[in-house]
Amino acid sequence: IAGLRRPAEAAGGAASDPLADWRAAGEPFYLPSGDEIAAFEAAHALRLPVLLKGPTGCGKTRFVEHMAWRLGMPLVTVACHEDLTAGDLVGRWLLDAEGTRWHDGPLTMAARHGAICYLDEIVEARPDTTVVLHPLTDTRRMLPLERRNELLRAHPDFQLVVSYNPGYQGMGKSLKPSTRQRFTAIDFGYPAPEHEAAIVARESGLPSETAQALVALAVRTRRLEADGLEQGASTRMLVHAGALIALGLAPRAACLQAIALPLSDDPDLTVALRAAVEASF
Ligand code: ADP
Repeated sequence: IAGLRRPAEAAGGAASDPLADWRAAGEPFYLPSGDEIAAFEAAHALRLPVLLKGPTGCGKTRFVEHMAWRLGMPLVTVACHEDLTAGDLVGRWLLDAEGTRWHDGPLTMAARHGAICYLDEIVEARPDTTVVLHPLTDTRRMLPLERRNELLRAHPDFQLVVSYNPGYQGMGKSLKPSTRQRFTAIDFGYPAPEHEAAIVARESGLPSETAQALVALAVRTRRLEADGLEQGASTRMLVHAGALIALGLAPRAACLQAIALPLSDDPDLTVALRAAVEASF
Protein backbone atom coordinates (compact mmCIF):
# COMPACT_ATOMS: atom_id res chain seq x y z
CA ILE A 1 0.00 0.00 0.00
CA ALA A 2 1.03 3.59 -0.42
CA GLY A 3 3.01 4.82 2.54
CA LEU A 4 4.20 1.40 3.64
CA ARG A 5 7.94 1.44 4.16
CA ARG A 6 10.38 -1.38 4.64
CA PRO A 7 13.61 -0.93 6.59
CA ALA A 8 16.34 0.35 4.28
CA GLU A 9 18.51 -2.64 4.96
CA ALA A 10 15.94 -5.43 4.99
CA ALA A 11 17.40 -8.80 5.82
CA GLY A 12 15.74 -10.57 2.90
CA GLY A 13 12.67 -12.79 3.24
CA ALA A 14 12.73 -16.37 4.40
CA ALA A 15 9.40 -18.07 3.73
CA SER A 16 9.32 -19.47 7.29
CA ASP A 17 9.42 -16.00 8.89
CA PRO A 18 6.66 -13.80 7.48
CA LEU A 19 8.31 -10.77 9.09
CA ALA A 20 11.84 -11.48 7.84
CA ASP A 21 11.69 -8.49 5.49
CA TRP A 22 10.93 -6.25 8.45
CA ARG A 23 14.03 -7.04 10.45
CA ALA A 24 16.90 -4.55 10.24
CA ALA A 25 20.15 -6.09 9.05
CA GLY A 26 22.40 -3.74 11.01
CA GLU A 27 22.20 -1.33 13.92
CA PRO A 28 20.43 1.91 12.95
CA PHE A 29 22.54 4.76 14.35
CA TYR A 30 20.72 6.63 17.11
CA LEU A 31 22.25 9.10 19.54
CA PRO A 32 20.12 9.28 22.72
CA SER A 33 19.25 12.64 24.28
CA GLY A 34 18.04 11.46 27.68
CA ASP A 35 16.46 8.36 29.16
CA GLU A 36 14.25 7.56 26.17
CA ILE A 37 15.86 4.14 25.62
CA ALA A 38 15.07 3.00 29.17
CA ALA A 39 11.55 4.47 28.90
CA PHE A 40 10.88 2.54 25.71
CA GLU A 41 12.36 -0.68 27.06
CA ALA A 42 10.07 -0.50 30.10
CA ALA A 43 7.00 0.12 27.93
CA HIS A 44 8.07 -2.73 25.66
CA ALA A 45 8.49 -5.12 28.59
CA LEU A 46 4.83 -4.50 29.42
CA ARG A 47 3.83 -4.25 25.73
CA LEU A 48 2.28 -0.85 26.48
CA PRO A 49 1.46 1.31 23.46
CA VAL A 50 3.87 4.22 23.02
CA LEU A 51 3.21 7.70 21.66
CA LEU A 52 6.31 9.57 20.45
CA LYS A 53 5.63 13.32 20.59
CA GLY A 54 7.77 15.86 18.84
CA PRO A 55 8.33 18.06 15.81
CA THR A 56 8.93 16.57 12.39
CA GLY A 57 12.45 15.37 11.59
CA CYS A 58 13.73 15.25 15.19
CA GLY A 59 14.60 11.54 15.27
CA LYS A 60 11.38 9.72 16.25
CA THR A 61 11.44 7.27 13.35
CA ARG A 62 15.16 6.63 13.75
CA PHE A 63 14.56 5.97 17.45
CA VAL A 64 11.92 3.31 16.75
CA GLU A 65 14.16 1.70 14.15
CA HIS A 66 16.96 1.62 16.67
CA MET A 67 14.75 0.25 19.45
CA ALA A 68 13.32 -2.50 17.24
CA TRP A 69 16.85 -3.57 16.37
CA ARG A 70 17.92 -3.36 20.02
CA LEU A 71 14.99 -5.49 21.17
CA GLY A 72 15.38 -7.95 18.28
CA MET A 73 11.90 -7.13 17.04
CA PRO A 74 10.67 -6.83 13.46
CA LEU A 75 9.32 -3.36 12.69
CA VAL A 76 6.37 -2.65 10.41
CA THR A 77 6.25 1.07 9.58
CA VAL A 78 3.30 2.89 8.03
CA ALA A 79 3.53 6.56 7.06
CA CYS A 80 0.00 7.82 7.72
CA HIS A 81 -1.70 10.15 5.23
CA GLU A 82 -5.19 11.54 4.80
CA ASP A 83 -6.30 8.80 2.40
CA LEU A 84 -5.20 5.99 4.69
CA THR A 85 -8.27 3.92 5.54
CA ALA A 86 -8.89 1.32 8.20
CA GLY A 87 -8.90 -1.23 5.36
CA ASP A 88 -5.39 -0.21 4.35
CA LEU A 89 -4.18 -0.98 7.87
CA VAL A 90 -6.24 -4.06 8.56
CA GLY A 91 -6.34 -5.81 5.18
CA ARG A 92 -8.69 -6.64 2.37
CA TRP A 93 -9.93 -9.28 -0.03
CA LEU A 94 -8.06 -9.20 -3.30
CA LEU A 95 -9.07 -10.77 -6.57
CA ASP A 96 -6.47 -12.84 -8.39
CA ALA A 97 -6.40 -15.73 -10.89
CA GLU A 98 -7.45 -18.24 -8.21
CA GLY A 99 -10.36 -16.16 -6.92
CA THR A 100 -10.53 -13.90 -3.89
CA ARG A 101 -7.77 -14.07 -1.33
CA TRP A 102 -7.45 -12.26 1.99
CA HIS A 103 -4.41 -10.03 2.27
CA ASP A 104 -3.35 -8.93 5.77
CA GLY A 105 -2.66 -5.19 6.08
CA PRO A 106 0.45 -4.03 7.95
CA LEU A 107 -1.29 -3.66 11.32
CA THR A 108 -2.80 -7.15 11.09
CA MET A 109 0.50 -8.62 9.98
CA ALA A 110 2.27 -7.10 12.99
CA ALA A 111 -0.48 -8.17 15.42
CA ARG A 112 -0.69 -11.71 13.98
CA HIS A 113 3.03 -12.49 13.87
CA GLY A 114 4.38 -10.31 16.69
CA ALA A 115 6.11 -7.15 15.50
CA ILE A 116 6.33 -3.53 16.53
CA CYS A 117 3.87 -1.62 14.37
CA TYR A 118 4.87 2.04 13.95
CA LEU A 119 2.25 4.46 12.62
CA ASP A 120 4.14 7.59 11.67
CA GLU A 121 2.16 10.88 11.95
CA ILE A 122 -1.00 9.22 13.25
CA VAL A 123 -3.14 12.38 13.10
CA GLU A 124 -2.76 12.47 9.31
CA ALA A 125 -4.93 9.34 9.11
CA ARG A 126 -8.73 9.54 9.00
CA PRO A 127 -10.54 9.23 12.36
CA ASP A 128 -12.10 5.86 11.42
CA THR A 129 -8.55 4.59 11.04
CA THR A 130 -7.59 5.41 14.62
CA VAL A 131 -10.71 3.69 15.94
CA VAL A 132 -9.44 0.27 14.77
CA LEU A 133 -6.54 0.75 17.15
CA HIS A 134 -8.71 0.97 20.25
CA PRO A 135 -9.35 -2.73 21.02
CA LEU A 136 -5.67 -3.39 20.30
CA THR A 137 -4.48 -0.81 22.80
CA ASP A 138 -6.34 -1.89 25.92
CA THR A 139 -6.20 -5.13 27.87
CA ARG A 140 -8.20 -6.91 25.17
CA ARG A 141 -5.30 -6.68 22.71
CA MET A 142 -7.66 -7.77 19.94
CA LEU A 143 -8.17 -6.74 16.35
CA PRO A 144 -11.61 -7.44 14.91
CA LEU A 145 -11.29 -8.27 11.20
CA GLU A 146 -14.93 -7.75 10.37
CA ARG A 147 -14.61 -8.29 6.64
CA ARG A 148 -13.00 -11.63 7.26
CA ASN A 149 -15.17 -12.56 10.21
CA GLU A 150 -12.15 -13.08 12.43
CA LEU A 151 -11.32 -11.79 15.88
CA LEU A 152 -7.55 -11.69 15.95
CA ARG A 153 -5.83 -11.93 19.33
CA ALA A 154 -2.58 -10.00 19.15
CA HIS A 155 0.62 -12.02 19.36
CA PRO A 156 2.26 -11.63 22.81
CA ASP A 157 5.16 -9.71 21.23
CA PHE A 158 2.99 -7.22 19.34
CA GLN A 159 3.49 -3.58 20.34
CA LEU A 160 1.96 -0.45 18.89
CA VAL A 161 3.97 2.75 18.53
CA VAL A 162 2.67 5.97 16.99
CA SER A 163 4.21 9.37 16.39
CA TYR A 164 2.51 12.70 16.70
CA ASN A 165 3.60 16.28 16.09
CA PRO A 166 1.94 18.54 18.71
CA GLY A 167 2.94 21.57 16.58
CA TYR A 168 0.14 20.75 14.13
CA GLN A 169 -2.54 21.19 16.79
CA GLY A 170 -3.30 24.69 15.58
CA MET A 171 -4.18 23.24 12.19
CA GLY A 172 -6.99 21.23 13.76
CA LYS A 173 -4.88 18.09 13.83
CA SER A 174 -4.80 16.65 17.30
CA LEU A 175 -5.47 13.32 18.92
CA LYS A 176 -8.81 12.63 20.58
CA PRO A 177 -8.66 11.98 24.34
CA SER A 178 -10.15 8.53 23.78
CA THR A 179 -7.16 7.69 21.63
CA ARG A 180 -4.39 9.51 23.46
CA GLN A 181 -5.32 8.06 26.85
CA ARG A 182 -4.43 4.59 25.64
CA PHE A 183 -0.77 5.43 25.19
CA THR A 184 2.29 6.03 27.32
CA ALA A 185 4.25 8.92 25.83
CA ILE A 186 7.87 9.87 25.28
CA ASP A 187 8.65 13.50 24.53
CA PHE A 188 11.11 14.35 21.77
CA GLY A 189 12.47 17.79 21.07
CA TYR A 190 15.38 18.76 18.88
CA PRO A 191 18.57 17.32 20.36
CA ALA A 192 20.79 19.67 22.41
CA PRO A 193 23.14 21.62 20.07
CA GLU A 194 26.24 19.51 20.74
CA HIS A 195 24.25 16.31 20.24
CA GLU A 196 22.61 17.63 17.12
CA ALA A 197 25.98 18.62 15.64
CA ALA A 198 27.33 15.13 16.35
CA ILE A 199 24.30 13.61 14.61
CA VAL A 200 24.64 15.90 11.58
CA ALA A 201 28.39 15.22 11.30
CA ARG A 202 27.86 11.48 11.50
CA GLU A 203 24.89 11.36 9.11
CA SER A 204 26.28 13.71 6.46
CA GLY A 205 30.01 13.07 6.75
CA LEU A 206 30.80 16.73 7.46
CA PRO A 207 33.57 17.90 9.81
CA SER A 208 32.21 18.94 13.19
CA GLU A 209 32.81 22.72 12.76
CA THR A 210 30.55 22.80 9.68
CA ALA A 211 27.97 20.65 11.46
CA GLN A 212 28.03 23.12 14.37
CA ALA A 213 27.42 26.03 11.96
CA LEU A 214 24.42 24.17 10.54
CA VAL A 215 23.02 23.68 14.04
CA ALA A 216 23.53 27.40 14.79
CA LEU A 217 21.50 28.12 11.63
CA ALA A 218 18.78 25.73 12.79
CA VAL A 219 18.59 27.50 16.14
CA ARG A 220 18.14 30.83 14.30
CA THR A 221 15.30 29.41 12.17
CA ARG A 222 13.61 27.94 15.25
CA ARG A 223 13.54 31.41 16.81
CA LEU A 224 11.50 32.53 13.78
CA GLU A 225 8.63 30.40 15.07
CA ALA A 226 7.78 33.44 17.22
CA ASP A 227 7.40 35.43 13.97
CA GLY A 228 5.00 33.01 12.35
CA LEU A 229 7.26 30.31 10.90
CA GLU A 230 5.28 27.10 11.35
CA GLN A 231 8.28 25.00 12.34
CA GLY A 232 12.01 25.74 12.30
CA ALA A 233 14.63 23.62 10.52
CA SER A 234 14.58 19.99 11.63
CA THR A 235 17.57 17.74 12.21
CA ARG A 236 16.55 16.01 8.96
CA MET A 237 16.95 19.29 7.04
CA LEU A 238 20.41 19.81 8.55
CA VAL A 239 21.43 16.32 7.45
CA HIS A 240 20.22 17.12 3.91
CA ALA A 241 22.11 20.43 3.83
CA GLY A 242 25.18 18.72 5.27
CA ALA A 243 25.10 16.00 2.64
CA LEU A 244 24.90 18.64 -0.12
CA ILE A 245 27.89 20.47 1.36
CA ALA A 246 29.81 17.20 1.71
CA LEU A 247 29.12 16.63 -2.00
CA GLY A 248 30.82 19.94 -2.83
CA LEU A 249 28.02 22.55 -2.89
CA ALA A 250 28.85 25.96 -1.40
CA PRO A 251 27.41 26.06 2.16
CA ARG A 252 25.14 29.07 1.51
CA ALA A 253 23.71 27.50 -1.66
CA ALA A 254 23.21 24.18 0.12
CA CYS A 255 21.43 25.87 3.06
CA LEU A 256 19.15 27.84 0.76
CA GLN A 257 18.24 24.69 -1.15
CA ALA A 258 17.83 22.33 1.79
CA ILE A 259 16.63 24.70 4.54
CA ALA A 260 15.56 28.27 3.70
CA LEU A 261 13.51 27.62 0.56
CA PRO A 262 11.63 24.50 1.71
CA LEU A 263 10.76 26.08 5.08
CA SER A 264 8.51 28.89 3.91
CA ASP A 265 6.85 30.59 0.93
CA ASP A 266 6.11 33.76 2.88
CA PRO A 267 8.17 36.66 1.42
CA ASP A 268 9.05 38.23 4.80
CA LEU A 269 10.00 34.92 6.37
CA THR A 270 12.06 34.03 3.28
CA VAL A 271 14.04 37.25 3.71
CA ALA A 272 14.60 36.41 7.38
CA LEU A 273 15.63 32.84 6.54
CA ARG A 274 18.12 34.05 3.89
CA ALA A 275 19.57 36.44 6.47
CA ALA A 276 19.92 33.56 8.92
CA VAL A 277 21.82 31.55 6.29
CA GLU A 278 24.13 34.51 5.61
CA ALA A 279 24.71 35.01 9.33
CA SER A 280 25.70 31.35 9.70
CA PHE A 281 28.05 30.85 6.70
P1 ADP B 1 10.93 12.06 12.63
O1 ADP B 1 10.51 10.63 12.58
O2 ADP B 1 10.94 12.64 14.01
O3 ADP B 1 10.21 12.93 11.64
P2 ADP B 1 13.49 11.00 11.71
O4 ADP B 1 13.68 9.94 12.74
O5 ADP B 1 13.13 10.56 10.34
O6 ADP B 1 12.47 12.13 12.20
O7 ADP B 1 14.84 11.86 11.71
C1 ADP B 1 15.29 12.54 10.58
C2 ADP B 1 16.77 12.31 10.41
O8 ADP B 1 17.48 13.00 11.43
C3 ADP B 1 17.18 10.85 10.53
O9 ADP B 1 17.15 10.21 9.27
C4 ADP B 1 18.60 10.95 11.06
O10 ADP B 1 19.48 11.20 9.98
C5 ADP B 1 18.58 12.22 11.88
N1 ADP B 1 18.43 12.08 13.33
C6 ADP B 1 17.65 12.86 14.11
N2 ADP B 1 17.82 12.57 15.42
C7 ADP B 1 18.73 11.57 15.47
C8 ADP B 1 19.37 10.86 16.55
N3 ADP B 1 19.07 11.12 17.84
N4 ADP B 1 20.30 9.93 16.24
C9 ADP B 1 20.60 9.69 14.94
N5 ADP B 1 20.05 10.33 13.90
C10 ADP B 1 19.14 11.27 14.13
